[in-house]
Amino acid sequence: MSITDKFGRPLQDLRISVTDRCNFRCTYCMPKEIFGKDYPFLPKSQLLSFEEIERIAKSFVNLGVKKIRLTGGEPLLRRDLPDLISRLSAIEGLKDIGLTTNATLLEKMAEKLKEAGLKRINVSLDALDNPLFQSINDSGVSTERVLKGIEQAVQVGLEVKVNMVVKKGMNEHEIVPMAKYFKDKGITLRYIEFMDVGKTNGWDFSKVVTKKEIYEQLSQHFEMEPVDPGYIGEVAKRYRYVGTNTEVGFITSVSESFCSTCTRARIAADGKLYTCLFANKGFDFREFLRSGVTDVELADQISAIWSKRIDRYSDERTEESARNKDRIEMSYIGG
Ligand code: SAM
Ligand code: SF4
Ligand code: SF4
Repeated sequence: MSITDKFGRPLQDLRISVTDRCNFRCTYCMPKEIFGKDYPFLPKSQLLSFEEIERIAKSFVNLGVKKIRLTGGEPLLRRDLPDLISRLSAIEGLKDIGLTTNATLLEKMAEKLKEAGLKRINVSLDALDNPLFQSINDSGVSTERVLKGIEQAVQVGLEVKVNMVVKKGMNEHEIVPMAKYFKDKGITLRYIEFMDVGKTNGWDFSKVVTKKEIYEQLSQHFEMEPVDPGYIGEVAKRYRYVGTNTEVGFITSVSESFCSTCTRARIAADGKLYTCLFANKGFDFREFLRSGVTDVELADQISAIWSKRIDRYSDERTEESARNKDRIEMSYIGG
């Protein structure tokens, strides 16, 4: 079964945020001044339980979802996460489970995650230079710890990709060193354009380093050839280093938006469903489930929301909308 929205986009991917908490305070995502000691993070009772996540996931898979990605906040902070992965792995029809993480707990957890059925992992790392990385994550964690997590994940057989957010004045000079390092390791690196998610990260157009700018820097050092998209709705623009099997990718949410092929739904840590990363209103599935609905009612509600979907924020982005929009935070929805 497959359902489509108002623009004919099928519902194929689901991202689930399992916590709004994080052990990093990346300056572009959870700036310390706002996400301080008094920040009202969700209490446990307001998070979806694993049973609730599993039930929602099953319903989405019955409606056509093939891939689920777990995210956060920092998903590895959610206690017993491998148990959730085992539950999701058992869902018939689900082809792929991924996880996005800052990798601080990965060295310790990689094996358990793999055993639970996880296939792929995206590690976020914005610089190799340690002082710079520490100034970005603002929590004292070293690059070494993240790199060890990556090594361990590769070792246990997880497919690893690395994501690097590039922001003007923050880490452009790390574009080439990061490419060299991960090319040598045979690991795909993807550059992410800095986005205007949330309302706390001081975004404006002048801080975006576009794919074109990044590509120009890379092409002075590497020969690259384009790779065809693997499937409709693939987010990254892919290239291969000529003469290798190693790829490099770009997530061009700002300079070349891809709303027309956006097939993703997102469940925030408190169970609200959002049909766009830049939304400000979501449907409360936690309360809906807790009111005792049947599986049929659950599926009908998801279908009703998706079939009315008209989101295309990035296609329509202007200076004005980027400045004024009331938006949910990235650490809550999970990217
Ligand atoms: N904590 C995990 C991590 O960092 O991988 C998962 C959640 S994090 C919100 C998911 C991804 O969103 C990370 O790769 C992060 O770098 C990215 N991100 C956060 N804020 C962003 C922004 N304003 N623009 C672009 N990417 C952003
Ligand atoms: Fe945490 Fe990820 Fe946001 Fe950094 S990007 S603060 S690691 S949620
Ligand atoms: Fe999808 Fe919204 Fe991003 Fe467009 S702006 S690609 S609709 S999440």
